[in-house]
Amino acid sequence: MSDMTFTLTDEQRALKTAVYELCKQYPPEYWRDLDAKREYPEAFVTELTKAGYLAALIPPDYGGAGLGMMEAAIILEEINHSGGNAAACHAQMYIMGTVLRHGSEAQKKLYLPKIATGELRLQAFGVTEPNSGSDTTKLQTTAIKKGDRYVVNGQKMFISRVLQSDLMLLLARTTPVDHVKKKTDGLSVFLIDIRGLKGLEVRPLRMMMNHSTNALFFDNAEVPAESLVGQEGKGFAYILDGMNAERILVASDSLGDGRWFIEKAVAYSGQRVIFGKPIGANQGVQFPIARAHMAIEAADLMRTKAAKLFDAGLPSGPEANMAKYLAAEAAWDAGNACIDAHGGYGFAEEYDVERKFREARLYKTAPINNNLVMAYVGEHVLGMPRSY
Ligand SMILES: Cc1cc2nc3c(=O)[nH]c(=O)nc-3n(C[C@H](O)[C@H](O)[C@H](O)COP(=O)(O)OP(=O)(O)OC[C@H]3O[C@@H](n4cnc5c(N)ncnc54)[C@H](O)[C@@H]3O)c2cc1C
Repeated sequence: MSDMTFTLTDEQRALKTAVYELCKQYPPEYWRDLDAKREYPEAFVTELTKAGYLAALIPPDYGGAGLGMMEAAIILEEINHSGGNAAACHAQMYIMGTVLRHGSEAQKKLYLPKIATGELRLQAFGVTEPNSGSDTTKLQTTAIKKGDRYVVNGQKMFISRVLQSDLMLLLARTTPVDHVKKKTDGLSVFLIDIRGLKGLEVRPLRMMMNHSTNALFFDNAEVPAESLVGQEGKGFAYILDGMNAERILVASDSLGDGRWFIEKAVAYSGQRVIFGKPIGANQGVQFPIARAHMAIEAADLMRTKAAKLFDAGLPSGPEANMAKYLAAEAAWDAGNACIDAHGGYGFAEEYDVERKFREARLYKTAPINNNLVMAYVGEHVLGMPRSY
């Protein structure tokens, strides 16, 4: 039985400190300035890549660090805990998992070592569409085989980091839904090279926070047949397979946000004196912060359980989903406690609270909405009737 304790090993503690120290070289002004300009944290991501952290989950045989999910989770948590935003690069860690698990040996040898060094960025994941949203099997983008190529047509929505990626993992329908037994059949995954891909138009979207996301338009874009990952028609299962890793890592982003909010709120409410005493002595200020801290600690236990199950090769779906839900909600409560503790200053850009508040809010909605996590728990964990 693998390690199921909840304390970090010496190596994990050292990793946590090393990541935090690297992140601290990128002060609040760095992130604030990029946020105002809606620019990508290129210098930070390059340094993180060079340090090997984004290759944590790539096995050594393909040039990566060969670490576990727990280590990957620690890395992302510390980025957000330090005041940064791991959303800029977290997907470079986990999108490659689909290629690792289901790709051919040729694809793995060709791409994984270059993804590990950062020579190639694979941090775009094209699933969501304007007309299907959370109902993935209804997606309308098609990839039709013609000789040695697939011809892709359709639209994708909110596809992040496309302009900062060389490769994209794309989910498209290869068999029409009325020609398959189950609606989950007939979807396929492609690993496509998007550098200068003819027939792909990328339209950046300005979002609530500094998040490089885009609407995509495929108009007869041709990709080589070798871009197919695994078997044609089995893509939905491949994508589901990667979800647990994504949930655990996104939960870790939220835990980092939550810890940042709590530290910031404790520090500010300890030194801000109003009515002759620190505002943190008032239970109206103190209790929401204490409550948020407890929720973050509880979510951390669930995230750690999920990561350890994952690393032991055991089923982790319920725990990964619950961790994502609990951590996103706890971070949001911590964000509210922090902004309340800061009074008007919580809304002033120079305090960074409002920026982190906007960034933390995303994880209640994406990559999966917390409503759908509850639907998963109701249906798959508790065996209740399906709502959709
Ligand atoms: C900043 C950002 C970055 C993103 N990056 C990516 C990306 O890189 N790649 C990608 O593929 N997608 C990405 N997404 C898309 C994200 O995963 C979707 O927004 C999300 O899956 C929901 O789809 P939707 O927005 O169409 O909402 P909808 O599916 O239209 O849902 C709208 C609301 O209705 C609720 N709802 C719908 N059905 C039910 C039901 N049966 N029960 C209860 N509630 C229900 C939902 O929970 C939600 O609250 C990103 C989104 C954002 C905001």
